Amino acid sequence: MPESVLKRVQDELLSLPGLGMSVMEISHRGPEFAEFHDGARQNLRTLLQIPDNYQVLLLQGGSRLQFSMVPINFLKGTGQIANYILTGSWGKKAYQEAIKEGEVHVCADCQDSGFDRIPEAAELQIRDPAAYVYFTSNETIEGVQFPAEPQVGSVPLICDASSDFLSRPLPIERYGLIYACAQKNAGPAGVTIVIIRNDLLSRSQVDLPGYLSYQAHADNDSLYNTPPTFAIYVLKLITDWLLEDVGGLEAMHNRNIEKANMLYEVIDNSDGFYAGHARPDARSIMNVTFQFPDDGTQGAFLREAASRDLVNLLGHRSVGGIRASIYNAMPVAGVVALRDLMQEFFDQRSK
Ligand SMILES: *Cc1c(COP(=O)(O)O)cnc(C)c1O
Repeated sequence: MPESVLKRVQDELLSLPGLGMSVMEISHRGPEFAEFHDGARQNLRTLLQIPDNYQVLLLQGGSRLQFSMVPINFLKGTGQIANYILTGSWGKKAYQEAIKEGEVHVCADCQDSGFDRIPEAAELQIRDPAAYVYFTSNETIEGVQFPAEPQVGSVPLICDASSDFLSRPLPIERYGLIYACAQKNAGPAGVTIVIIRNDLLSRSQVDLPGYLSYQAHADNDSLYNTPPTFAIYVLKLITDWLLEDVGGLEAMHNRNIEKANMLYEVIDNSDGFYAGHARPDARSIMNVTFQFPDDGTQGAFLREAASRDLVNLLGHRSVGGIRASIYNAMPVAGVVALRDLMQEFFDQRSK
């Protein structure tokens, strides 16, 4: 979270300016909350240049619920085939939910090499009749990111962008649906952003449990039930920060590239001492993952890091090693501190 946003939340927590009430006390149907609910969605439209034929929905249930809502709305009962591109752990989990709802084809699978890459264009084997093609733009655990959207022709493209949403500009018109939970780049846990094209929306299944229907949310202007008001208020502040303080997604992207490159440069100049997990053309600008020659060296590195207040660096147990998550709000100075530690630690060990 950007510090300026946290401070603003702290200032306004007891009483919103001029209202005498907390954001947690106002009505979710009143004009005061509408300012945050409409404002956050308008900010997203501005930041991502979302075309008019897309709806912006603010839902609950996290990305995990989207793993199921996507196939329940667009696969189940259609007789069509959902195509999944697997480049890491989250995509695999989404696939495991999809197979409960209908026929699923893995149209590219990068697990054989330990999820360290994205597929070549020629590897994509889309099976028809295709309901949609699904991919994960940034695999958070492995630190593998698509530099650009996969080519899928006229088949609707669906993306889990949970861990790189708002880190860079996106050609939204290439997507049928793109979603992201807020808690990596867009706010606190509790709200999930879904951007969906009208023609895909109109294909969603009827007769679903109300909450699971994208159409029900769209018909109710994303107020089908009480929304997570506090999380949406913070989303509004974060998107304000991106627009006004950062200067938009192009500027955010440049800052993110600069931060990530600082760490990858040390990795690349370490003669293999730091072994990057992702192949260079699939490296994430959000999650930098690398390994040490042995556990003892890694332990020494983590102890030295902790003494410099650099924490939460241990990677997910499925990959091991280190994962530096350098989301939008991580200041450049934080990455400089880690870069300096990595350089000094390497210099020391290679003497
Ligand atoms: C964090 C994350 C999720 C899980 O989100 P929840 O809101 O906890 O369900 C899913 N996909 C990706 C890519 C993530 O980074």
